[in-house]
Amino acid sequence: MPGASLGKGTFSERGRWSPLRSKSKRKTNTRGVSTTKTAQAAQNIQAARGAAAGSGPQAVRAQVTGAVPSLRTDYHVHPNYSIDAQPFTIRDYCCRAVELGLAEICFTTHVEFDPVRYHIDNFVMLNGRRHPVRDLAWLDAYFREIEEAQREFCYTGLKVKTGVEIGYDLGLEEDIARLLQYPFDYVLGAIHCLDHIAISSMQESPRYFASRSLDRMRDEYFHVVRSAVQTGFFHSLAHVDLYRRYGIRHYGEKILTVHRGVIEPILEEMARRGMGLEINTSSLRRGITEFHPAREIIQLAAQAGITVFTVGSDAHRPEDLGDHIDEALALLDRYGLHNHVFTAGRAVPCSAAEAECRA
Ligand SMILES: [Zn+2]
Ligand SMILES: [Zn+2]
Repeated sequence: MPGASLGKGTFSERGRWSPLRSKSKRKTNTRGVSTTKTAQAAQNIQAARGAAAGSGPQAVRAQVTGAVPSLRTDYHVHPNYSIDAQPFTIRDYCCRAVELGLAEICFTTHVEFDPVRYHIDNFVMLNGRRHPVRDLAWLDAYFREIEEAQREFCYTGLKVKTGVEIGYDLGLEEDIARLLQYPFDYVLGAIHCLDHIAISSMQESPRYFASRSLDRMRDEYFHVVRSAVQTGFFHSLAHVDLYRRYGIRHYGEKILTVHRGVIEPILEEMARRGMGLEINTSSLRRGITEFHPAREIIQLAAQAGITVFTVGSDAHRPEDLGDHIDEALALLDRYGLHNHVFTAGRAVPCSAAEAECRA
């Protein structure tokens, strides 16, 4: 829909939403944000919660779109437990979330279990040191720290959820099942590696893409996606067209349509299982003009019957928290789709969660 107008802003021909309203300047250093500042910023949360009553930034967006305002959430966040995240704590992110007026934040520490990559990425960070991901003692600290944040930030109205982003590949089911004995609110599945090579990595991905035709890459990637769905482990899939990020350099624009004819049955299977699909905004920080996934795949997901969507910045540092979330929510509104939050694996549309909040 080239140049379609959406109130105070437009979608460009390439799908980028450009709001006309000026964006407030973000603070870049949130380490050690004081409780006083948090209390001050708590008003933002209250303003956001009051939006449905006709005031605040969400009400503005609702006027623009004519839709019921969704809670502003970020469901893909990497605190300092992730090996590739910057050393910011769960508390640092919560402070930033309150400053931004987010209603809910879900931490999704990144874990990988591929034994072939044992020395590369089968780790989390615990107390500033690499810790083997299979030694699940780190989860006790992780859950405890999130519970502390839930208590500390409760008065601000910010809800804090416990999630995980699991890199899926064939044959990792036993390790994943052990991890999922812990009571996560939200389990995000992701395909980062094919043939034990990280296609999500600028350094590693050329080795994979250079050795595959586009058709072979497509077949291998979607075979792993289909298997991930069939495991039943995941509440939602992250950045489902991640192969675009670096693959476009090798395959050119043909990669933008490579999903056609392959992804539809997978999306239908996800719909049958009540799984969600994530709108991941990190692509916009990397100069890609569409979210992961692109609009066409979001539309195919809706046609396939998927109703559960989440939005996530994939932040690896607090300054990226909430990045482009408003545009993702606007896109969902535009397609008549709904952002969701998760509690103990149960998806709730944000409009219902907002109603619960006000009750
Ligand atoms: Zn990921
Ligand atoms: Zn991530």
